[in-house]
Amino acid sequence: MAEKTITEIARLCADCGTCQSACPVYGAELSEPNSPRGKVNLIKAVDDGRLKTNANNRALLYQCLVCGGCDQACPNGVEFTSMMINYRNRISSGRSIPWLKKLLLFFYQGFILRKVLWLPRLLARTPLKKKLFLPSFQNTDLKKIRGHDRSKSYDVLLFPGCVLTYFYPEKIAGIKALLEKQGLSVLLPPGLHCCGFPYLSQGWGKKFSSLKKKNQAVFRSFRFQYIVVPCSTGVLAFKKYYDLPGIEIFELSEFLFKFRPDAALDPDFAKPFPGPFTYHDPCHNLKSLKLQREARHFLEQFGDRYRDDASALCCGFGGIFKVGFPATSARILDKKTDKLDELGAGALVTSCPGCYMQLKESLPIPVYFFSDIFKK
Ligand code: SF4
Ligand code: SF4
Repeated sequence: MAEKTITEIARLCADCGTCQSACPVYGAELSEPNSPRGKVNLIKAVDDGRLKTNANNRALLYQCLVCGGCDQACPNGVEFTSMMINYRNRISSGRSIPWLKKLLLFFYQGFILRKVLWLPRLLARTPLKKKLFLPSFQNTDLKKIRGHDRSKSYDVLLFPGCVLTYFYPEKIAGIKALLEKQGLSVLLPPGLHCCGFPYLSQGWGKKFSSLKKKNQAVFRSFRFQYIVVPCSTGVLAFKKYYDLPGIEIFELSEFLFKFRPDAALDPDFAKPFPGPFTYHDPCHNLKSLKLQREARHFLEQFGDRYRDDASALCCGFGGIFKVGFPATSARILDKKTDKLDELGAGALVTSCPGCYMQLKESLPIPVYFFSDIFKK
């Protein structure tokens, strides 16, 4: 079936406002133009020729995390995130993205990071760390665990994604070891790039297409059964915007739940925490991929050391959103922090690299990646 056009999607909106309660940006700003409904009406007005795009309404259209909350809540089938991504690509084509955002997008892609990784590492040790939204870098050298044998067919191609590759490579080494412990052969190939979603969602479709082409060429040059991605945004990009016919793609918790539901957990994981630990549902896991049960299957095995958070509150990261709208992002994070206090959480686990970075760098409690709960 052909993809719906921007106009077709916008026309489905019945102005009911159900989406407001699902929108973290509306929850933080409490103003109609910041709600999904307000944005649909803005797009309709521009589409009808009643309004011209200008700097103000363009900024409003970028004040959205593309989290998928409204898609899930809408009773009329308005595919808001698809419409938003298509619309941004139509109005911007990368030209109107501010230079700071563009610079950070280059960082994501790794072109600059690969060559001058020492610079952000150095800056992360200075007071500029917070201003530049830099995380604490881990030091694992991925070259030592990358490798491939072209004559071999692997069970899993592990797509590491850019946040873990450049900031938290230790996690990639841990995930590879975890999958191998389950008896699987794992390929971590050289030459992969960012999945490209951060570019596409910002309206830089040309850049996305070039990254997609490069990643697809790497995928085509190896033999493997599944692609496993420890990042739901990457899974979303591959499933919705790549051409990968016949290839099955799984988010990490989804893959383990389906193929290794008995994977052994670390019995000592929850012991040091002063209170029970909880789980942060990444928006794209829950709202776009509908993965709710998968991680919980493992987390609930910790008994009363695990306390569920069913609130589905966003962490406010949204990649470049945090850079573009730091005050809104901080208000969204405050709501999350209040919820964690209410739960008496002694630690937090999440399964999205972006959420991990945001929460690890902001919360006073220890934050772990999903793969950390398993036996080493
Ligand atoms: S829930 Fe759907 S139909 Fe209702 S206002 Fe929001 S986008 Fe429109
Ligand atoms: S995608 Fe998320 S942030 Fe954007 S309008 Fe919908 S609910 Fe709000």
